[in-house]
Amino acid sequence: MTQRAYNFSAGPATLPLEVLEEAREALLSLGDLGAGILEVSHRGPEYTEIHESARARLLQLLGAGSDWELLFLQGGASLQFTMVPQNLGADADYVLTGNWSQKAIAEARLLGGDVHVAASSEDTGFDRIPTELDLRPGASFVHVTSNNTVRGTQWPELPRTDAPLVVDMSSDILSRPVDLDRVGLIYAGAQKNLGPAGVTLVLIRKELLARTPDGLPTLLRYTTHAEKGSRFNTPPVFAIYVVGLVARWIESQGGVAALAARNEAKAQRLYAAIDASPLYEGTARPESRSRMNVTFRITRDGLEEEFLRGAAARGLLGLKGHRSVGGLRASIYNAMPPEGVDALVRYLDEFAAAHA
Ligand SMILES: *Cc1c(COP(=O)(O)O)cnc(C)c1O
Repeated sequence: MTQRAYNFSAGPATLPLEVLEEAREALLSLGDLGAGILEVSHRGPEYTEIHESARARLLQLLGAGSDWELLFLQGGASLQFTMVPQNLGADADYVLTGNWSQKAIAEARLLGGDVHVAASSEDTGFDRIPTELDLRPGASFVHVTSNNTVRGTQWPELPRTDAPLVVDMSSDILSRPVDLDRVGLIYAGAQKNLGPAGVTLVLIRKELLARTPDGLPTLLRYTTHAEKGSRFNTPPVFAIYVVGLVARWIESQGGVAALAARNEAKAQRLYAAIDASPLYEGTARPESRSRMNVTFRITRDGLEEEFLRGAAARGLLGLKGHRSVGGLRASIYNAMPPEGVDALVRYLDEFAAAHA
């Protein structure tokens, strides 16, 4: 097999090798069944076991008890920009911290909601998480993006709100423990920190299911999926299968708290290397820096292409910043091993020395 690189892509993103190896086997045969995961009924016993154990593992890892419902949906996190206000009500407060929250706000406005921007970091180029929120009493919900994948900022902790807090956790779910007491609904596309593209997780407080209005199309109703255990129609079976393997892998690593400590250490090493050289500059304010997406730029013009070429030659992939902002970005989700970060730190040091 070709040597596997350290892949810093923001999403779809690197997955644990053990997970990929097991999935490869399961393509040909689930155990000794003689048929693979892509080929069996989504209502048969083999898939039922996979579906239910993935759901149970994720609930456990998220620390969610019997007052929560976990759904496997399709349409990406982007469909949740619509489904959340459709189901919970669109007169909502949003915190604007980057490209993804911008899109979420736009969708709520399309529904005719009385949408209020409770805080924004747009005036400083989305380089920080706002600290003062202007929340309205009686808002349908408060929406935040816990980790801004493009800008490399992350809420140090989730805010306390009176209205249900809705959190887009697409790029940091299960990277650190979350205080669910503060939360009403979490959604996350799987392809950053959880598995392959094609499935979106929604964790919703059961009491909020009562808000789904009559007359909403069947597939857009959280209640449809809750009532049918996320098998109203054919679910994305392969994506759910792999997410289940990733959940098991997280358990094998010591759980979410152990990964959080490892993620913190990885991020600190990388930011230290960036801060150590005047050739690099982190683009997020230190107090708002993400432990998942480390965004930076080279302070001297014209060196970025050379940096990326040299990185690729060392097996360090996916370091180009998002097309909307440029610069560089290293995504270091759960599945990026510490050795990958060490290799990138060595390269940063060498590149800085060569251009001193
Ligand atoms: C990637 C991403 C999205 C969009 O996810 P899709 O599954 O492609 O719709 C939304 N929010 C955040 C924070 C993201 O990182």
